[in-house]
Amino acid sequence: MSKTKDRIRESNLRYKQSLGQNFLYDEELLSALAEAAGVSADEDVLEIGPGCGSLTKHLCRRAAHVLAVELDERLIPLLTAFMAEEKNLAIVQGDVMALNLQEVTKDLKKPFAVVANIPYYITTPLIQHLLTGGLPVSRLALMVQKEVADKILSSPGDDGWGPLAIRCQYMCEPHLAMDVPAACFTPPPKVDSAFIVLPLREKPAVEVKSEEMFFKVAAAAFASRRKTMVNNLCATFRVERPQAAEWMRAAGLNEMVRGEKLSLEELARLADAIYIS
Ligand code: SAM
Repeated sequence: MSKTKDRIRESNLRYKQSLGQNFLYDEELLSALAEAAGVSADEDVLEIGPGCGSLTKHLCRRAAHVLAVELDERLIPLLTAFMAEEKNLAIVQGDVMALNLQEVTKDLKKPFAVVANIPYYITTPLIQHLLTGGLPVSRLALMVQKEVADKILSSPGDDGWGPLAIRCQYMCEPHLAMDVPAACFTPPPKVDSAFIVLPLREKPAVEVKSEEMFFKVAAAAFASRRKTMVNNLCATFRVERPQAAEWMRAAGLNEMVRGEKLSLEELARLADAIYIS
């Protein structure tokens, strides 16, 4: 039996499904994840959901400092005992979605990496939170459901192409590090997973006159997937068809195209056309 499984068994801990508690225990896999996260000896790491510390241990070996945020109070003594020898670790108990992360991470060297085998129930809000919260982050290295990884890595016109992919690809250069089968976790989740790395871009993938307008247009593109972009613009911006069609023409786009087919560049051109009109 692995050390993680031993520790959980000895502590009589009951997994909380509601907290997305699916733990990793294979030391080779954990080492490969820490390697894929690209953490270097002069870099600090924010780990979300350390659980029993199995990934944390590998991160502590590679990083300058690790700050681990864990919601489940029951895990803190277990984690503290297991990590007693790691002098470069700080543990904070709390909900990553509720904590003031600017404050919590104030002592980390900037920019820092975020590494996590995240609880899947907060995947999308957590990624949004990390990308829009103004944190000085160098990259996100995250275990997510395979389906979410496919979405983040999708291209215009793919089923998964939508607001999450647009947000991630606008700000980062996401790539798949490895697929991770459900059997690698204890207890195994119902879905397969993937470890993805999202290095933040120095500047966004496309230049826009207004980010707010860009993300409003991106949301409009998927307001109703069956409708053309013109119809979605009419609904989102409360304008008549001729106005929406004029914006499309000004952006060099076909009036009949569906929003789900539009690339970052096309959405940016459309957002700029609307912004300056
Ligand atoms: N890192 C460990 C591993 O790889 O084995 C545990 C990963 S487990 C998928 C997710 C962890 O996130 C659990 O320890 C869970 O208690 C914790 N967690 C769940 N919701 C959280 C939240 N809102 N804030 C911080 N931690 C959370």
